[in-house]
Amino acid sequence: MNISFTPVTIKKKKPAIAGLPFGSCFTDYMFLLNYTERQGWHDPRIEPYGPLPLEPATVVLHYGQSIFEGLKAYRRPDKTIQLFRPEDNIRRMNNSARRLCIPELPEKLVLQAIVELVDREREWVPEAPGTSLYIRPTLIATEPTLNVNAAKTYLFFIILSPVGPYYPEGFNPVRIWITPKYVRAVRGGIGEAKTAGNYAASLYAGEEAHRAGFSQVLWLDGVKQKYIEEVGSMNIFFVIDDTILTPELNGSILPGITRDSVLKLARHWGLDCRERKISVNEILLAQQTGSLKEVFGSGTAAVISPVNVIRYKEQELIIDNGETGKITRKLFEDLTAIQYGQLQDPFKWTFPVDTRKTQQ
Ligand SMILES: *Cc1c(COP(=O)(O)O)cnc(C)c1O
Repeated sequence: MNISFTPVTIKKKKPAIAGLPFGSCFTDYMFLLNYTERQGWHDPRIEPYGPLPLEPATVVLHYGQSIFEGLKAYRRPDKTIQLFRPEDNIRRMNNSARRLCIPELPEKLVLQAIVELVDREREWVPEAPGTSLYIRPTLIATEPTLNVNAAKTYLFFIILSPVGPYYPEGFNPVRIWITPKYVRAVRGGIGEAKTAGNYAASLYAGEEAHRAGFSQVLWLDGVKQKYIEEVGSMNIFFVIDDTILTPELNGSILPGITRDSVLKLARHWGLDCRERKISVNEILLAQQTGSLKEVFGSGTAAVISPVNVIRYKEQELIIDNGETGKITRKLFEDLTAIQYGQLQDPFKWTFPVDTRKTQQ
């Protein structure tokens, strides 16, 4: 399908990548695609990045009918650019769409749009180690009405943001806080959809955790508050003795693509990985008996995030003496090496962007 193009008059100056806060700077262009009942998805176009005209009555502003995705474009050693599992992000976006009564996107066109936009903005894909271009596909209900129904019109857009290294001073463990008080998602709710409302629901507990000196909240299940779910923008893993454990996908946990990559890579290495219910008690007990070896989170932003402290009520668990474990480190090294094209990719996860040879 042909994607139309409107050029900018003046290109932006590229910022220094070191120290650039996440998601604070956007490239020259964005991709847009509209939906109406009569025309379906139509008018794919790349235009200068800029404000969206929305009426104050727009459905998304009142009732939160909105979904998004997050993936990255990486520079390979030969300076060509590649994506990591983009088709999985697009498929997941359509799962989120169904859950929020949003019409499904044409998957081939969305992949084409990501590739064309990133290719056009290739100068924005940074080259320094650990840097990348973050890609944010977003889909919102645009119908102007206060009527509580699924909207009849939608806008899909993609914006791009260069990001600096997540660990500028080396691999850095995080402290997480298990809240016994708040929940993020409940059984039968929208926890498994990547939707704005889940984030809004998590902010209050997040601020409480920050005030107590923790960087993130580890959520428990919303029914019994007994089983571990996820970190809110990361899935969670525990290494107990020689087994890698992560909560099973139960409908209230986001099915992370990094989570899936961790499981596939660790199984490829021959490690024992289990997806099942994990209670907080099991973790506390494993710590007491010395069998809790490593804890880490997984997500597109940090890829792998070692956890060195877990707080639950009055207890503070120091994991692995506050060090970063071997499996955590190896997963980070190999996953990022595959993403940057430094290591052979046996899973066919990487996807080339370059539609022509680079001129460099
Ligand atoms: C996006 C997200 C994750 C991580 O998913 P990845 O595909 O690995 O980036 C985990 N939890 C929530 C709630 C998320 O929104």
